[in-house]
Amino acid sequence: MTEVVQGSATLAIAQHNFDRAAKQLKLDPSLAAVLREIKRELIVHFPVEMDDGSFQVYTGFRVQHNIALGPAKGGLRYHPDMTLADARALAMFMTWKAAVVGLPFGGAKGGVIVDPKALSATERERLTRRLTTELSLILGPDRDIPAPDIGTGPQEMAWIMDTLSMHAGYSVPASVTGKPEVIGGSYGRTAAVGRGITTVAVQALRDSGIDPAGATAAIQGFGQVGSSTAQLLAAAGIRVVAVSDSRGGVYSGAGVDVDALTALKEEGGALGDYGGAETVTNDELLMLSVDLLVPCALEAQITGVNAARVNARVIAEGANAAIDPEGDDILADRDVLIVPDILANTGGVVVSYFEWVHDLQAFFWATGEVNARLREVMVRSYDAVRARSQSERISLRESAYQIAVAKVAAATEVRGIYP
Ligand code: NAD
Repeated sequence: MTEVVQGSATLAIAQHNFDRAAKQLKLDPSLAAVLREIKRELIVHFPVEMDDGSFQVYTGFRVQHNIALGPAKGGLRYHPDMTLADARALAMFMTWKAAVVGLPFGGAKGGVIVDPKALSATERERLTRRLTTELSLILGPDRDIPAPDIGTGPQEMAWIMDTLSMHAGYSVPASVTGKPEVIGGSYGRTAAVGRGITTVAVQALRDSGIDPAGATAAIQGFGQVGSSTAQLLAAAGIRVVAVSDSRGGVYSGAGVDVDALTALKEEGGALGDYGGAETVTNDELLMLSVDLLVPCALEAQITGVNAARVNARVIAEGANAAIDPEGDDILADRDVLIVPDILANTGGVVVSYFEWVHDLQAFFWATGEVNARLREVMVRSYDAVRARSQSERISLRESAYQIAVAKVAAATEVRGIYP
């Protein structure tokens, strides 16, 4: 049977950040123990018919960390290195993200241990539909609402929505978010994470005394989050000088053409095929002297090992837990302003919330309204986190955690422990 319970650097980061907030907030230890624990997790081992007629058994899981504020909400990740421990950590992050921006959701995460690139479209569809059936015990618009993450996108969400709808006997659009617009997806959802990152990054640059117009930025990861962040930063007048993906990246001091790079990737090309720029490794990209660095790939990219060599003045954490606690401390000593993941990358869950509300009401906003309301939520949340960080003389991460943990603690306390 596939081993799913391993240690996880991401879980250690999640617990470190929570423990520090609980201590700073002087939470009752028994309440802290409730919030630190995972509420519910379902592990499933299930067969999928491959195109050649053989069967392959896959392992998937769904973790619900806390549902004190509302239904569980979080992405589904298809990745060969996915573990249950990572899902636990990412579910915890989702609880804090929803709380910090004021959404009525709890936190969840799930995934399958699989390399989606090794599957055909029909194999991915059968895997997704069978996974959905296995997890349907705990999914639903009032219970737990999946969304895209690494290795999944609108197509997987459409298959999940259709499978749950087939079981119900009627369409249940509010059962997932990040769906195609034609079946109840929200306008603006695809670029929402990048839009949220761009909004807070621009605020953070200004707060660091840097004029965003003409500021330089490097972005690690060029998937759903990284590519839209690059496009929106460029649209905001920021000079994107470097981008990378798992195969490496490109750098040009004069700025790279983000639209050309996006088109190149869409046509199946590699970033390295882009002319007029030097190639850089992922490690070199993290060390570039830039005003803004946005890691949008995997966890634990900036650590105690390499943080001293980072030369950015502001970092917006697009990827969850891109910076570990040792990295955080080193960067803080060097006055690098870090907008933490649980604030910076919440644009996706904010627009997912809009999508869920739209589906429940069968009433949809136009793109402009979605983007304007997302901006309003991001600016308000950033300002609250920034104000607390200044009044308490703590980092933006400590401030965001304090706001989020205090809110979930208050909800848990007032609801009481059943029975
Ligand atoms: P994705 O699969 O679309 O893209 C991931 C990108 O990272 C790809 O370009 C890949 O090539 C690159 N990559 C992988 N390994 C790398 C490495 N070692 N170095 C550099 N690049 C590497 O995934 P995504 O949805 O863009 O998610 C990226 C991050 O953002 C994840 O941490 C995810 O949890 C987080 N996130 C995603 C969402 C969302 O709605 N998609 C929301 C919030 C946070």
